[in-house]
Amino acid sequence: MGADANMKKERVVIIGSGPAGLTAALYTARAQLAPVVIAGNQLGGQVAITHEIENYPGFPDGLSGPELVERMKEHAENFGAVVEFDLVESVDFSNGSPFRIKTYGEEYLADAVIVTIGADPRKLGVPGEEDFIGAGVSYCGTCDGFFFRGKDIVVVGGGDSALEEGIFLTRFATSVNVIHRRDELRAGIQLQTRAFNNEKISFTWNSVVEEIIGDAEGGVKAVRLKNVLTGEETIEPTEGVFIFIGHDPNNAVFGDQIALNENGYIITDQRYRTNVEGVFAAGEIQDEIWRQVATSVGQGTSAAMSAIQWLEANEERLQALDALPAAGD
Ligand code: NAP
Repeated sequence: MGADANMKKERVVIIGSGPAGLTAALYTARAQLAPVVIAGNQLGGQVAITHEIENYPGFPDGLSGPELVERMKEHAENFGAVVEFDLVESVDFSNGSPFRIKTYGEEYLADAVIVTIGADPRKLGVPGEEDFIGAGVSYCGTCDGFFFRGKDIVVVGGGDSALEEGIFLTRFATSVNVIHRRDELRAGIQLQTRAFNNEKISFTWNSVVEEIIGDAEGGVKAVRLKNVLTGEETIEPTEGVFIFIGHDPNNAVFGDQIALNENGYIITDQRYRTNVEGVFAAGEIQDEIWRQVATSVGQGTSAAMSAIQWLEANEERLQALDALPAAGD
C-alpha cells in the first residue's frame, strides 16, 4: 500500500461501528478529533440484528437493537464524528503512526486507530438457520432468553458458552436439550457438573442439527437431527434454537500486523492498547468472554480515552511528521 499526497489524513480512524466503535467515536468526537468510523458490512454490528435489548442501563422499557444503534450513531455525529458506509480492505501498520487504512472507496492516513471490528457468532450453515434468526434462532441467551419463557428449547454446542448459556436459559425455558456432536463435552468440569445437576437440562449426544424447521407465522417448530454414529435422523419439536459453537473474530484484514491470542482475538492491556503503539482495540475483537453491549460501551470509552491521551502525548512528533512533504508532493 503506497502513501501518496491524495490520501485523506485523519486524527482517528475507528474500524467498526458496533457499540464499542460508536462509543469510541462519541468520546473522540467530543475531544474535537473528528473521528472517521468505517462502518463495515452492518452499521451497529451484531446489535443491529438483536430484536430487543433489555439489559442496557437507562432504558427500563428496553429498546430494539437498530434503535440503539441509530441513537448511538446520532449521538456521535452530533459531536462531529463521520460514519462512512465502507469496508476495510487492508491496513498497513508496519511503519507506525500515521497508519494506512485502505477501504473499498477510500484510503486513509490516521494518527491513531481504534479497532472495534467485532467477532461473529459461528453459524451452523444448515437450512432454516438464516430464515429464523430473531424468530426462534438465537446466538445470545442473555439477549433473547426472556422471550422463551415456558418453552422447550435446544442449545447447540458442547463448550463453556453452550453450558453457561444453557444453564442461564433454564431460568426461562421449561426444558433445555443440549445437542452436541460428540459424547464428551469441551466445557470445564464445574460447568459440566452444574449442567448435569440441573433438572431442566438434558443432552442429545453424537448428534448434529441438519435443518431448522418452522413457518413464517409461528417461527421455529422443530429441528431435524442426525446421529453421526448411526446416521439415524429424528425430528425434535422445539420453539427455540440457541447456537453456541464458537465465535470468529474479524481479524482477517490485520494479517500478522497485530498481536493476537491463540483464538485469534487482539491482545490488549488494561488501557486497551495493542502491541502497535497508537493502535487501540475494544469490544468483541479483544474480549471473547462477556460480549455485552454494556461491556463493549465501557471498553470503547476506555480505548478512546487512551487514544486521546496518546495523541496528546505525541502531538509534537505527529505535527512534525505532518509537516514533511508526502510522496507525490
Ligand atoms: P468453544 O470452546 O470453541 O466450543 C465450541 C463448541 O461448539 C464445541 O463443543 C464444539 O464441538 C462445538 N462446535 C463447533 N463447531 C460446530 C459445528 N459446526 N457443529 C456443531 N458443533 C460445533 O467455544 P465457546 O464455548 O464459545 O468458548 C470460547 C472461549 O470462551 C473458550 O476459551 C471458553 O473457555 C471461553 N468461555 C469461558 C466461559 C467461562 O469460563 N465461564 C464462558 C464462555 C466462554 P467440539 O467440542 O466437538 O469441538
